Amino acid sequence: MKELADQICSDYRGTEPILIGVLNGVVFFIADLARQMTIPTKMDFVRAASYGSGMTSSGTVRLTKDVEIPIRGKPVILVEDIVDTGLTLAHIVEILERKGPESIRICAFIDKLERREITVPVDYCGFQIEEGFIVGYGLDHDEKYRHLPDIYILR
Ligand code: 5GP
Repeated sequence: MKELADQICSDYRGTEPILIGVLNGVVFFIADLARQMTIPTKMDFVRAASYGSGMTSSGTVRLTKDVEIPIRGKPVILVEDIVDTGLTLAHIVEILERKGPESIRICAFIDKLERREITVPVDYCGFQIEEGFIVGYGLDHDEKYRHLPDIYILR
């Protein structure tokens, strides 16, 4: 976590990026990340609802909570728990781009690179995994297991 925060801080030195977390899964990660950062940041959240609660993403996304901090002309770092097919993030980036930020980069806790269906550049990434459904550390399955302090593969 420290290395990830250090890398972001060195890239954004002299600026005040806005960390935008994608609720709900991101809460543990963004809290740990933000605490390790040594430059000033602001923080806001969006919530993206994908239809269905199964173990795969349906690919249909809508934003049920928008950002409240103005982001026009500001550097934005979109912080996501897991990038899987990439569809959720691609939708969110598109919506945020319309608000005219200076830049948008993506920071993901886990990147499931092998399952990508759409190109989304993950600029900062905690871990890369190939397969498996992850729970714990903020990540749920049907709202269960989110509270677990560690990460588990659901079988
Ligand atoms: P994508 O649109 O990239 O396919 O899906 C991203 C979202 O699907 C993530 O933000 C997360 O909510 C959910 N997701 C994808 N893979 C996993 C996983 O292994 N575990 C959990 N808990 N959620 C996942």
